[in-house]
Amino acid sequence: MEASVARTVARDRRPPPADALGASRYVNLWSEPEAIGTRRVRAFVLILRTRGCYWADVKGCSMCGYAKDTLGRSATPAELAHQLNAALARYRDEPYVKLYTSGSFLDDREVDAESRRAIVAAFAGRAERLLFETLPEFATPATLAPLISAFPGTLEVAEGLESTQEYVLRRLINKGANPVDYFEAADRIREAGASPKGYLLLKPPYLTEREAVADVVRSVEVAAPRFDTLSVNPVHIQNGTTVEWLYRRGRYRPPWLWSLNDAMIQGAARRGRARLVTFPTAGGLPRGPHNCGECDARVLAALESASLDQTFDELANLACPCRTTWATTSALEPAGVVA
Ligand code: SF4
Ligand SMILES: [Zn+2]
Repeated sequence: MEASVARTVARDRRPPPADALGASRYVNLWSEPEAIGTRRVRAFVLILRTRGCYWADVKGCSMCGYAKDTLGRSATPAELAHQLNAALARYRDEPYVKLYTSGSFLDDREVDAESRRAIVAAFAGRAERLLFETLPEFATPATLAPLISAFPGTLEVAEGLESTQEYVLRRLINKGANPVDYFEAADRIREAGASPKGYLLLKPPYLTEREAVADVVRSVEVAAPRFDTLSVNPVHIQNGTTVEWLYRRGRYRPPWLWSLNDAMIQGAARRGRARLVTFPTAGGLPRGPHNCGECDARVLAALESASLDQTFDELANLACPCRTTWATTSALEPAGVVA
């Protein structure tokens, strides 16, 4: 992409550079159910405000609107420390900690090396497991080793693999790396002593429901040997994205929860030793994965239980009249771009 076009994309996606006060505030935090192994625990989730993902400036992924939660510039170490201290005041020793930055925690432009070490060290001795996300190119022995040293529990390093099919990843989602880049990064993460986790995207734009399920199932099978955990993330409509553009014109429907259910049942049989989980965002809402409205809460609860306990048998027993509607309309959809 030419530099001038890239700058236009960046202007469209980014807020104006924040003042010091705005930069001192984290985006959000909350506590949610999770599991370590099959032990149910609470997870402390913190979204730090940083420069955000550099790829959003270059091209940006078709479903990602996270640039709106960023600073428009790099945060200073003092600003990051302020965000951390404000968050720690609300930390209640949850055993699982998830740190998000709307980008890559390991990118120096988002979080500098010393701030990274200090943030991870702040949870040492208090949390058992700490997760952060990164693009594959930043997961190196040099970035990982200091964090492994600073945290005596399990570091979980998550990558947005999305799909193991290069065409889906590069052309439909617009990622800047190939599946093999994510696999090699997962190997580096494991060799460094951390636990690799991969996200898989259910229903990128331009895939039918059936193609989307098949893509996730195939991705689970291919990626399972490289990752300790695979998390299936059904698309929800985020503002300012290609997916939203299509949705507003009636050319995109978020995935049915039945599709997610089907992907989890088939994926569970192919996951090998990897954990397979799903915790959908905006589940049951028009802009998130949804069914008829009558059964959504029940299906979502079953998916959460299956994810936490790693037992998937109950998913096959879920029923609602809309399951027939889903099966029929899915069968009638014309084939999309991927056979
Ligand atoms: S999905 Fe990930 S890589 Fe793509 S623009 Fe969003 S944060 Fe960046
Ligand atoms: Zn229903």
